[in-house]
Amino acid sequence: MNCIFCNIEEPRIIDQDALFFVIRDGFPVTEGHSLFIPHRHAPTWFDLTTEEQTALSALLNKHKKLLQDADSTITGFNIGMNCGEDAGQTVMHCHVHLIPRRKGDMEDPKGGVRGVIP
Ligand code: AMP
Ligand code: ZN
Repeated sequence: MNCIFCNIEEPRIIDQDALFFVIRDGFPVTEGHSLFIPHRHAPTWFDLTTEEQTALSALLNKHKKLLQDADSTITGFNIGMNCGEDAGQTVMHCHVHLIPRRKGDMEDPKGGVRGVIP
């Protein structure tokens, strides 16, 4: 299949379980920006099975801790998904963004993901 995430080179995978794998984003918003991607090609979160949706929590929690253990400047996170082209999705294989945030990384972080529509 002609899909970037179905064809990720093995060395770029930093972790995986039975249902998901994790990579660093190729064009990170902040250092450590990671993507959680189901092995199975499904377009969006809403196309995942309940088992897949549930399994993701454990991997997100694990990497939240790993990132903060490795970098004490990380003081917050944004978790985000773009579901559909009109919501900004560019790779049509479901992925969840975990974006580390650091105090002072922007002038006024208030609102966070609400900023998707300026
Ligand atoms: P979205 O806009 O939500 O579909 O996110 C797609 C994400 O994939 C963006 O954050 C891109 O920076 C990232 N991306 C695109 N191509 C690659 C690639 N070859 N390897 C890693 N990340 C990629
Ligand atoms: Zn795919």
